[in-house]
Amino acid sequence: MSDLRELYQEMILEHNKQPRNFREIQDATARTEGFNPLCGDRLTVYLKIAGGRVKDVSFKGSGCAISKSSASMMTAAVMGRTVKEAEHLFQAFRDMLSSKKGAPFDAERLGKLAVFSGVNEYPARIKCATLAWHTLRAALDGGTDGSVSTE
Ligand code: ZN
Repeated sequence: MSDLRELYQEMILEHNKQPRNFREIQDATARTEGFNPLCGDRLTVYLKIAGGRVKDVSFKGSGCAISKSSASMMTAAVMGRTVKEAEHLFQAFRDMLSSKKGAPFDAERLGKLAVFSGVNEYPARIKCATLAWHTLRAALDGGTDGSVSTE
């Protein structure tokens, strides 16, 4: 587990410094704002769906390193996937973070996202890590100019 923890630190730092897909999508089919009042994380997820597939996904906003790196990794993870696959990823990610410490999770499905498994040792940070995913979920539901809050 300590390897995963080291990898977690590395990924957070790296994605916080150089977030992937940190931009707007002009012709987005959905755009949803997410807010985590506990930490002050605020981000907007842009989504372009065509033919039941995520053609493009991006985010903008500001927040702590965990929320930003999680959003960055979320966009990389769902890019090019079908809407159904993206929803399954959301569920697997949420389940991983709501499970008890040391409980098994779907590491195969989650891939690199498994580095966030250690976050459930820090309950206050779980909302930081899941904010982008809840926002994505709302955007997948077809929310144009919608918004979600973790509270
Ligand atoms: Zn945060």
